[in-house]
Amino acid sequence: MSLTDPRRGIPRTDALLALPAVLAARTRLGDHVVRALVRDAQDRARRGELSPELVESTVLAAISDGCGTTLRPVLNATGVVVHTNLGRAPLSDAAVAALVAASGYVDVELDLATGARSKRGVAARAALLAACPAAEDALVVNNGAAALVLATTALAAGREVVVSRGELIEIGAGFRLPDLIASTGATLREVGTTNRTHLHDYADALGPQTGCILKVHPSNFAIHGFTAAVDLPELRPLASEHGVPLVADLGSGLLAPDPLLPGEPDAATALADGADVVTGSGDKLLGGPQAGLALGRTEVITRLARHPLARAVRADKLTLAALEATVAGPAPPVTQALHADPDRLRARTERLAAAVGAGVIAHDGRVGGGGAPGVPLAGWAVRLPEAAAARLRTGDPAVLPRLHDGACLLDLRCVPEADDEGLLAAVRAALDRID
Ligand SMILES: *Cc1c(COP(=O)(O)O)cnc(C)c1O
Repeated sequence: MSLTDPRRGIPRTDALLALPAVLAARTRLGDHVVRALVRDAQDRARRGELSPELVESTVLAAISDGCGTTLRPVLNATGVVVHTNLGRAPLSDAAVAALVAASGYVDVELDLATGARSKRGVAARAALLAACPAAEDALVVNNGAAALVLATTALAAGREVVVSRGELIEIGAGFRLPDLIASTGATLREVGTTNRTHLHDYADALGPQTGCILKVHPSNFAIHGFTAAVDLPELRPLASEHGVPLVADLGSGLLAPDPLLPGEPDAATALADGADVVTGSGDKLLGGPQAGLALGRTEVITRLARHPLARAVRADKLTLAALEATVAGPAPPVTQALHADPDRLRARTERLAAAVGAGVIAHDGRVGGGGAPGVPLAGWAVRLPEAAAARLRTGDPAVLPRLHDGACLLDLRCVPEADDEGLLAAVRAALDRID
C-alpha cells in the first residue's frame, strides 16, 4: 500500500469498536454481529466501493438498523420467484407479524380456557383444513423432505414403497428421492421405465410386502415424446384392492389449482383424485415459511403423527404461526409476484431504465424452486452492462440481478414496489462505480 493509497484512510477496527454507539450496540446485538458490520464496511472501502471517510457513518447506520443477524436482505431482481439461494418464499406482512407475536411465550400447546395441555399447532392445522376442505386432517413438519420421510417411514418401514422409475428424481443439492427413501428403512420397489410406466407395472409389484404406493411430481423436469404415466384416479382402485395407502408427493405445496400453472399439481385435486395423503413444502408456491405439509385422510395422518419420528421433524412455533398467517391471510409475495400485473410491471421497468439511461428488453421470469419447469412468466428487464452485477450484489441494498448473454438484467417481478426507490439508488451507485 503506498503512502497515497486512499485505503490508508480506512478507520481501524479498534477505533471503530470504541465509538460509544458501537460499544452500546455490542451489548445490544452481540460482539460477533457488530464486528461483522465493521468488517463489512472496511471491506467495501478496500474494494473502492465506499470512500474511507464514509466508513464510520456506514458502520453507525448499519448498527442502528442492525438486528442481531448478519444475514443481509437482498432485492431479488432475477425474475425467479421461489429462489432457493435467497431463502425461497419471502413472508407476507401478516406472516411476519405472526412470527413476532409467536416469538415470546405462546399457547402453542396449551388450552387457555381449561389450562390443560392441547395438541400442538391446532391453529395452523385449522387454517390448512379451511383452505383445503378435501383434507380430513393435516400435519405440519419441518420441511417437504421431512413430510415424505415421515410418510414413507410410518407407512412402509420394513416394507416396500412402489414408485415409477420415471419419478426417481433429484430435486436439488442433497435431495435424491431414492436415497431419501432408502434411508427410512423402506425398500424402493421401482416399476416401469424412465419414460413409460403402465398400470400393470404397479399391479405386478403389489403384494403383502407393499407398504405404500408413491406418486412423485417430478418438479424440476419434464419428459416429452414417447411417454406414459399412471395418474392417481387410475391407481386409486388398485390401492383399495390391495388395502395399501396411496401417497402423492406434490412438492410445491399448492393447496388449490392455480390457473397460471396448469401443470402444477395441488392438494385439493390430488385428494379428490384418490390420494390418501399428499405431501408438499410450505415455502414454495404456498409462499410461507419453510415447512412440510401432510394432508389427507384422518387414519393415515394419525399414523404419521403417532410415529416416533414425528417428534424429530416437528415444526417450531414460529413456523406454525407464520404458516397459519400465510394460509389464512392475504396473498403472500410469491402469489403476488406470480400474478404481477404486466402493465404495472412494464411501467416500473421503464421508469427505472429511463432514470439510469438503460434499455428495456422482454424477459421471462421463472417459478423456480423446482416448480413449473419451462413455464415462462412473461415480463421485462432493465439491461445493464455485465460489470454492474458484482457491484449490485455487494451494494446497499444488496441486489441480485440475472446474468444472461453478457448483460446484467434486472427483472422487477419479485421486487416489492415499495423498494423501487432503493433499487434505483443501488443501480445508480453501481453504475457510478463502473464509469
Ligand atoms: C421440493 C420438493 C421436495 C422437498 O421439499 P423441501 O421443502 O425442499 O424439503 C420433495 N418433493 C418434491 C417433489 C419437491 O419438489
